[in-house]
Amino acid sequence: MEPFARIGNNLSADFVNTFVSFDGDGGTLRSASDVVRFLVTTGAIAAAEAERVRDKLREDVAAERFLATALELRTAVRAALTAIERHEPIGDGPLAAINAVLAADAGFEQLAPRDGGYHVARRYMIDDAAIALVPIARDIALLIATPGAPVRQCAGEGCVRHFYDDSRTGRRRWCEMAICGNRAKASAFAKRQRAK
Ligand SMILES: [Zn+2]
Repeated sequence: MEPFARIGNNLSADFVNTFVSFDGDGGTLRSASDVVRFLVTTGAIAAAEAERVRDKLREDVAAERFLATALELRTAVRAALTAIERHEPIGDGPLAAINAVLAADAGFEQLAPRDGGYHVARRYMIDDAAIALVPIARDIALLIATPGAPVRQCAGEGCVRHFYDDSRTGRRRWCEMAICGNRAKASAFAKRQRAK
């Protein structure tokens, strides 16, 4: 089963949403290998790059450091998304954390076939496992640098998931209709019933 709820429609939002797991047990990134799996599943890094990252994480110390860096980045990205949503400036702490990951960048572009044509794919030289986190830092950096980027938190009561709304109407409200949308409808219905 797909372990990550990829409802964010965007790498940064999906990454932040790993903060939540519906078993209420500390999110879906619990180990360094969870982080690597997330990066491959979302296409942030290629499978061959993931192999290189796993090589770098054989020692427990390296794996722990990588997980800690990833979780620190997630805290920063979460703060940044919240700031964008509230039209507030990004805090110095989150900015520094994002910039620190960007500073590790060691990547290059490659032409790769896609859909009968080509696209420019970014590849990473994984000399250090932390380089695998660069795609997330690049993604949030571009969102921060885009005025009015349409990121939002789900309107569901108590729901902390974020998403990128590229819908035509720009009116997406829920992380998942099946979860928060229906819950809100049911609660509105119950309220109407009580009011009768
Ligand atoms: Zn929700």
